Amino acid sequence: MIGGGLVAYADSKSDHAIASSQVAPKKKVVVLGTGWAGTTFLKNLDSSLYDVQVVSPRNYFAFTPLLPSITCGTVEPCSIVEPIRKIIKKKGEIKFWEAECFKIDPTSKEVHCRADIGTNLDGNDEFLLNYDYLVIAIGARVNTFNTPGVVEHCHFLKEVEDAQKIRRSVMDCFERASLPNLDEEERKRILHFVIVGGGPTGVEFAAELHDFVTEDLSKLYPMVRDLVKISVIQSGEHILTMFDKRVTEFAEEKFQRDGIEVKTGFKVVEVSDKNITMANKSTGKMSVPYGMAVWSTGIGTRPVIMDFMKQIGQANRRALATNEWLRIHECDGVYALGDCATISQRKIMEDISAIFKVADKDNSGTLTVKEIQGILDDICIRYPQVELYLKSKQISDIVDLIKDSKRDVEKESIELDIEEFKRALANVDSQVKNLPATAQVAAQQGNYLAKCFNKMKDCEEHPEGPLRITESGRHRFRPFRYKHFGQFAPLGGEQTAAQLPGDWISIGHSTQWLWYSVYASKQVSWRTRALVISDWTRRFIFGRDSSRI
Ligand code: FAD
Repeated sequence: MIGGGLVAYADSKSDHAIASSQVAPKKKVVVLGTGWAGTTFLKNLDSSLYDVQVVSPRNYFAFTPLLPSITCGTVEPCSIVEPIRKIIKKKGEIKFWEAECFKIDPTSKEVHCRADIGTNLDGNDEFLLNYDYLVIAIGARVNTFNTPGVVEHCHFLKEVEDAQKIRRSVMDCFERASLPNLDEEERKRILHFVIVGGGPTGVEFAAELHDFVTEDLSKLYPMVRDLVKISVIQSGEHILTMFDKRVTEFAEEKFQRDGIEVKTGFKVVEVSDKNITMANKSTGKMSVPYGMAVWSTGIGTRPVIMDFMKQIGQANRRALATNEWLRIHECDGVYALGDCATISQRKIMEDISAIFKVADKDNSGTLTVKEIQGILDDICIRYPQVELYLKSKQISDIVDLIKDSKRDVEKESIELDIEEFKRALANVDSQVKNLPATAQVAAQQGNYLAKCFNKMKDCEEHPEGPLRITESGRHRFRPFRYKHFGQFAPLGGEQTAAQLPGDWISIGHSTQWLWYSVYASKQVSWRTRALVISDWTRRFIFGRDSSRI
């Protein structure tokens, strides 16, 4: 009897499942990009819940923080890449298309893609995908600031192919400079390596190159080793400006000791095949001869994103603006993460104004300090990125900014003019910086969004986010919250600087070992982890390979 009842229940349940699966097919998720954001999203998504398709011109994931190590043969290219098909194989029915998206149409909810795998598919190399949810994670491109000659004559360091080209080019310079019948000036020119941009990538490459030259190439090219020069050109007053002053100072001093020239306050204005022209406010223009140049001055917007931004009224931005849930406000079901996106500050300020309206119930135009504290707490829940700034400032600091406030410290009942307070808070807007374009941010966003997608159904019924400001009810999810784990700046000679949370600075050989362990642990698979560690070991024992392959 009991058994019969159970069978009947199971049958009706499966009937129900079949019926509902016929009624509601899985929602289509299209993911653009297989970099840090896209891959982390795919790794954490419960793909049984959706019909997932992935589009990327690169059929692998690349561990970008080790790209500078490839330029000098410290690590091999295949050690830092993992085929995307291997990563998604474990996830069941995810489909991958090696192609690039060249147009996003949010009205018809379609993406236009083009395969570019070197074969002419008789005009069939373009195809359309429609979506219910679109995850845009296509990263950024190099920013040349339209400087003449950069594209033609400089190397970039963004992709694995770029790093391989640089490696070949370095060896090329040493072989060319060693040929007979060259005068010393020409040899010097060929062996002048210029890095434009003193950010983490440019500095790390300069340090790697210096190690390669001093530890390996100087033994193989004794005739020309004294002619080598490495220069870093930086438009700002210092290199590594995103780091603490102690790191910047240490790096600049170390580079000076190592003989790496750091030219600060110079902006490169033109690059020809043999000369780099730069300008400085006080000294004017000057040209330096060079043999190889690497351009590393930051990131710009990909054309497909520019076109999309124009369509949705976000023209003239550097990156797609999203809300705190990584959703693009103007389009239904479209999310953007990683280097191609940024969380909009303008929207935050609009919402803060709305919070004030709600708080000032009696329309008196004044608030007590308790109410202000409540408002700040509310802002912190909704906007985790504002939280850091607000937490770092005492409420009294903000209160002090308001000139006409009447302050009664004992009673803790400060009456404030709301308009003044809003103006004071508006400073938050200019002081809260956009999240940095890093792998850390991209990976955390990918992870966050996958978790939201995994609990989409539950959260539609039982929303877990903060109360909506202008409408009733709650947001489905909690907003994205970035957790900063610190950043490294490898400086060569087995020394690294690290700026860890709480502005804790660590510099030196022991930090280099921390760098080795963190980067080994962060590898995407055990295969790449084993390969990277074996490359480091090989380099310790045998040095770097200098073949020009
Ligand atoms: P990406 O990782 O760039 O991925 C973009 C993906 O989109 C790629 O798969 C690409 O092929 C694909 N794509 C491009 N165009 C299209 C298209 N039209 N259609 C479909 N797909 C497309 N960050 C750190 O946190 N720590 C570091 O130490 C660090 N070191 C770095 C060193 C170097 C040399 C570089 C270049 C970057 C470094 N970064 C580091 C930054 C980090 O790599 C980026 O912030 C991160 O890659 C951004 O991830 P993403 O997924 O947004 O973009």
